[in-house]
Amino acid sequence: MTISTFSLPRNIVYGENALDHLSQLVGKRAALVTGGSSMKRLGFLKRAEDLLKQANFECIIIDNVEPNPSVETVRNGAEAMLAFQPDWIVAIGGGSALDAAKVMWCFYEHPHLSFEDIIPVGSMPPLRTKARFVAIPSTSGSGSEITSFSVITDTKNHIKYPIVAADMVPDIAILDPRIPAKMPPSITANTGMDVLTHALEAYASTAATSFTDPYAIEAIRLVFDNLETAYLQPDNLIARYNMHNASALAGIAFTNASLGLVHSMAHKIGGEFDITHGLANAIMLPYIIQYNRLSTDKYRLLERTLRIKDLIDAIKDLNRRLDIPLTLKDCREVVIEEKTFNTVLERMSENALADPCTVTNPGHTSVENIKNLYQQSYYGK
Ligand code: NDP
Ligand code: MN
Repeated sequence: MTISTFSLPRNIVYGENALDHLSQLVGKRAALVTGGSSMKRLGFLKRAEDLLKQANFECIIIDNVEPNPSVETVRNGAEAMLAFQPDWIVAIGGGSALDAAKVMWCFYEHPHLSFEDIIPVGSMPPLRTKARFVAIPSTSGSGSEITSFSVITDTKNHIKYPIVAADMVPDIAILDPRIPAKMPPSITANTGMDVLTHALEAYASTAATSFTDPYAIEAIRLVFDNLETAYLQPDNLIARYNMHNASALAGIAFTNASLGLVHSMAHKIGGEFDITHGLANAIMLPYIIQYNRLSTDKYRLLERTLRIKDLIDAIKDLNRRLDIPLTLKDCREVVIEEKTFNTVLERMSENALADPCTVTNPGHTSVENIKNLYQQSYYGK
C-alpha cells in the first residue's frame, strides 16, 4: 500500500449566480485572465469586473489566451502582473484560460524561473506569497478549476507540457451554470465527453482509492443523466448545473487518481491531427475500455452500481445521440486520411506509451497494444 494525498480547492462555490461571490473577495488589486472573445461577448467579463469593483478592487484584464496556450502567452501575462502587483488572480474562461493563468501566477510569484525549470513534477516553488487564485470555468470540461495541472504548449517545438504542482490547485472555484449554458452544442458535446473520460479513467486508474471513487462514480452518473439534455436544450439550467458540477467532481477524481490510456492516446493523436481533445477521447473511449476490461473488474462493479447493462454500449449510444462519430475515419471535424494515419501510427503509439497518463492505466500496455487500439478506433471493430 502506498501513501496518497487528497487535495481540493479550499472553497467551491456553486449554483446559479455563484459568480456574485466575487463581491465577497477582500483585497486591493485583481488581475482578470480570460480567453479570446466569449467572456467579453457574453458579458461575463464585465460582470466579473463590476463585482470586483463593488468590493473596491482595482482591476486589469489580461485577455486573448488562445486554445492550447503557449509559453509566450504565459510569459506576457506574468509581465503584466509584475507591473500591476495583484493580490488576487481571477481566471474566467475555458480550460485554456485557466491553465494559462495558473502558470502566469507561478512566473509572477517567481519571475526568475524559466519554463524548463517548472517542467519536472514537484519542481515548482510554493505560491501564494503575492497572490491567491480564483478559477471560474466557462466550459464543463477540463476540470482545471479543481486540478493541480496546467497544460502549456511549447509552440517552437510543438510539444504540450503538463505542468503539475499541488500549489496550483486554486483557492476558490466558482461554478456558475449560467456561463457554460452559453456554449454551442458541439463544444457542449466534446467537453462533456471529456468529463466522462476523466471520470471513467480516474475510476479505473491503478491509483484510484476510496477517496477518489465516489467523485468519479457521481460524475459518471451525472454525465449519463444530463449531457444529452444539455446538448439538445442549451438553456436547460438544471442539466447545465449537473454537467458543471460533474466536470468539477471528475476533476477532483482525476487530479488525485490520475488518468489512463485514453488520455495518453488522445494527447498524441491531438499533436498529429489537430482534433479537439474531448472528441478524440469520446471516439477512442469504448475501444480502450473493451481492452482494459480484461485487466480490471471495476467496470463490472460500475455497471452494477449505476444499473448500466453494458458500459461500452452505453458510451457508444451516448456518442450517437451527441452526433459524435464512432470511428476516427468518420470524423468530420478534421479529416484523418488513412495513409497519413498509417504513416504516423508507429510514432504516435511509441509516444502514447511514454505519456505520463499511461502509468496508471489498468491494462498492461505495449507499443503493439496501443497500435492495435488506434487501429480499432480508426476502423471500428
Ligand atoms: P478551451 O478553453 O480551449 O475553449 C475552447 C473554445 O470554447 C474557445 O474557443 C472558447 O472561446 C470557447 N468557449 C469557452 N467557454 C465558452 C462559453 N461559455 N460560451 C461559448 N464559447 C465558449 O476548452 P476547454 O475548456 O475544453 O479546455 C481545453 C484545454 O484545457 C486544453 O488546453 C487542455 O489541454 C486543457 N486541459 C487542462 C486540464 C487541467 O487539469 N488543467 C485537464 C484537461 C485539459 P474564447 O477563447 O473566446 O473564450
Ligand atoms: Mn481531458
